[in-house]
Amino acid sequence: MLDKIEKLSKVLNESYSEKSLTNSLGTFFEKNFNVNDFSIVIDSKNEAAISDLEKNNCYPLFKHKKYIGYLQFSDIPIELYKFLKYTTPFISLKIQNIILTDKMQKNINFHETMKNIAKIIETQYELNYVIPIIGEMLDKFFADYLIYIFLKNENSGGNYLAWPSACNDKTILDIVSRIETPVLTPDKKTLALPLKSEGKEVGVLVAKSTNEIITDKDTDYLIQLSLQIATTINRANVYAEILKHATLDALTGFYNRCQLEERLKQEVSNAKRQKSPLCGIMTDIDFFKSVNDTYGHAVGDLVLKTIAKIVRGQLREYDIAGRYGGEEFSILLPFTKIEEAIRVAERLRKSIENYEIDISKVNPDSDIKKINVTLSLGIYEMTPDDNDEDLLKKADKALYQAKNTGRNKVVVNNG
Ligand code: GH3
Ligand code: MG
Ligand code: MG
Repeated sequence: MLDKIEKLSKVLNESYSEKSLTNSLGTFFEKNFNVNDFSIVIDSKNEAAISDLEKNNCYPLFKHKKYIGYLQFSDIPIELYKFLKYTTPFISLKIQNIILTDKMQKNINFHETMKNIAKIIETQYELNYVIPIIGEMLDKFFADYLIYIFLKNENSGGNYLAWPSACNDKTILDIVSRIETPVLTPDKKTLALPLKSEGKEVGVLVAKSTNEIITDKDTDYLIQLSLQIATTINRANVYAEILKHATLDALTGFYNRCQLEERLKQEVSNAKRQKSPLCGIMTDIDFFKSVNDTYGHAVGDLVLKTIAKIVRGQLREYDIAGRYGGEEFSILLPFTKIEEAIRVAERLRKSIENYEIDISKVNPDSDIKKINVTLSLGIYEMTPDDNDEDLLKKADKALYQAKNTGRNKVVVNNG
């Protein structure tokens, strides 16, 4: 008996997690008492009747007379029974210590995670960058849960998935689509928390447990984290809004003049460095003044907006469109030679010529409900000798010629 107690004490001393303790104790009991199927069940809440435990080959664990769970075996021979009578107080103590250490470690990790998120709030504003970092941190912290972050779409009012890249869980999608207050599913395995900051809903945080129910402690952690995450998202949204106003023209959504010039510099220097072609197009609406004079300024604005939309629709993702002045737009076509730029410009000119703009909502008094406008365009392909000012200046020269030779046409400046 004594040498077995000594061996047990060695096993207890060398285990630092519930899993390793279960494994080492399992091996110990198998070798010394020829029993297997060993497991440790920690369940302080439901004290089982001792007689029931014994019937099922279980041995209860107490700590300071408080029931904390039981050990389960395939069989409890009398020799093992005697051994357990002496030794379970030590085993209980060890288990308690491991649980406490785990809890402390989790608390430390939690504060570390909170600190890291706070650090992100201070330094990062781009949601595309921030969300994956937060997602990875949460995945690491809640290893037993699947974590989802949804963000509110300002336009539709709905929430879209931002982390991770997919969610096929219908229950979650359903909850997120109509969430107003925190939701815990009846099986207690899915918790959805609306993310709110300064009274505004900015998204939803969802945790889904893959095995056990979500504990009260973890619910607490998730709630605290959700507040921190909501603040981060709100800050990023405010920043994006400020940035948008500083760079985009409010009426057309194109780059404003200042930002256009920034982008122009970048594109010219890229094209020079990569020795790639770059074309510039200047456009001006024909007889636009008379649109304003005939139908009113609001209709003029509608025409500008409509043309901007058509232009954007005809361009590639990386083409750049800016509002150069009142009704003059500039377009930069990187990696594009003049032949292709002419095709783009022609296509644009035709789409606008054929597009009937419905003005009836903006000017209900007008007898004419739909109007057409035309666009004149000037194009120029940059040469290695040109600087960034030359590109649009030379395209503008071609535009001037288009205006002087009939309008509604594309003219190329061949340098
Ligand atoms: P052209 O064919 O020679 O270009 O004739 P045009 O009438 O278009 O002449 P111009 O380009 O000189 O006219 C510019 C007009 O654009 C004058 C101004 O009233 C109008 N405009 C400029 N910015 C805006 C705007 O933001 N909204 C509205 N509604 N009109 C604008
Ligand atoms: Mg003009
Ligand atoms: Mg004009």
